[in-house]
Amino acid sequence: MQSIVLLGSTGSIGINTLIIAKRYNITVETLVAGNNIDLLNQQIAEHHPRRVVIANEADKTKVNHPDVRAGSEAILEAIEESQSDMVVNALVGYVGLAPTLKATSLGKRVALANKESLVVAGEFIDISLITPIDSEHFGLWYLMNHRPFSKLYITASGGAFREWEIEKMQKASFADALKHPNWSMGDKITIDSATMTNKLFELLEAKWLFDTTDIDALIEKKSIIHALAEFKDGSTTAHFAGVDMKLPIAFALRGEVNEPILPPTDLLAMGSIEFLPIEEQRYPIWQIKEHILANPHLGVVVNAANEEAIEAFKHERCSFFGMSEIVLDAYKRFESFKAATIEEIIAIDKEVRKYVK
Ligand code: NDP
Repeated sequence: MQSIVLLGSTGSIGINTLIIAKRYNITVETLVAGNNIDLLNQQIAEHHPRRVVIANEADKTKVNHPDVRAGSEAILEAIEESQSDMVVNALVGYVGLAPTLKATSLGKRVALANKESLVVAGEFIDISLITPIDSEHFGLWYLMNHRPFSKLYITASGGAFREWEIEKMQKASFADALKHPNWSMGDKITIDSATMTNKLFELLEAKWLFDTTDIDALIEKKSIIHALAEFKDGSTTAHFAGVDMKLPIAFALRGEVNEPILPPTDLLAMGSIEFLPIEEQRYPIWQIKEHILANPHLGVVVNAANEEAIEAFKHERCSFFGMSEIVLDAYKRFESFKAATIEEIIAIDKEVRKYVK
């Protein structure tokens, strides 16, 4: 019987993963969550994991399970002790990197929603063990089918401020940026969608997954087309699917899916489809797109600065555009950096955060 270790079970991807696990009778050996203990207790009652890990020691007594541990080291221990050969990593941010490295070092397959792992340290991750849980990369994989392509495209919704006047965006609040027009996701990725940092990360993710820099992004406001592949023969195909992560999750867990996961796209209801360029004025982070694709090892710098910038914006220490200013400034400051080892990645992450603070 298939079993998984699920990291980030109480988040947007984690919840959808448990729905798919239940549908296919997949055993959930380990549940890892952060602070949402009420939801975690419901998940424990439904899925009966063998062990549970949470973020904080202080919450351990609130968890209804005989084997509860806390902290990031405990996540690594739980992966090491698990029998499952698959880890679903749906943690958010840099905290997801060490579990990805631990799982792959043990030869376990990783169904990876935590795109920050690849952004930060793609060069040091065994890609043969990774299946991405991201609608765009799933779409690309679905389209390519081992055919020789000349260019890949992923789409962006444009995020919360795609229709806002630039001047109004200067005064946008954290709560405004959380109002994503199409997707319901965790806070961090929703903010990253508003700044377009999420799409920059997805280009890097594609670079490591498909070993190409012939990749670009376009805005498609309906989020019905997630990816396009342009083939050497001159034809282009597009991947249409509903705004629901259960499809990529089902494929990542099962490898092959032959039954309905989502209702098919209603072509007549969809109406027209339009592609628009990503403009640097609205999305200043886009200035570094070409440079970072040529220097993907700088993902660690962008990620560290971006995580700190989001915290600053959340606590009103910077404006919405202030986040991009922080990231672009750190990018320039650390442009010459290139890690030779994972230890150097960890050190530069710390240094960038210190610089930004
Ligand atoms: P959420 O914020 O909804 O969920 C994050 C999960 O991680 C929660 O279960 C949270 O626990 C847990 N967590 C956070 N920090 C810790 C910690 N220190 N120790 C243990 N658990 C922790 O994020 P999403 O589900 O939206 O995103 C997860 C990842 O998937 C991100 O990398 C994102 O970019 C990627 N992704 C998400 C998509 C989506 O549709 N949501 C689409 C494609 C990719 P708790 O809530 O209990 O505190």
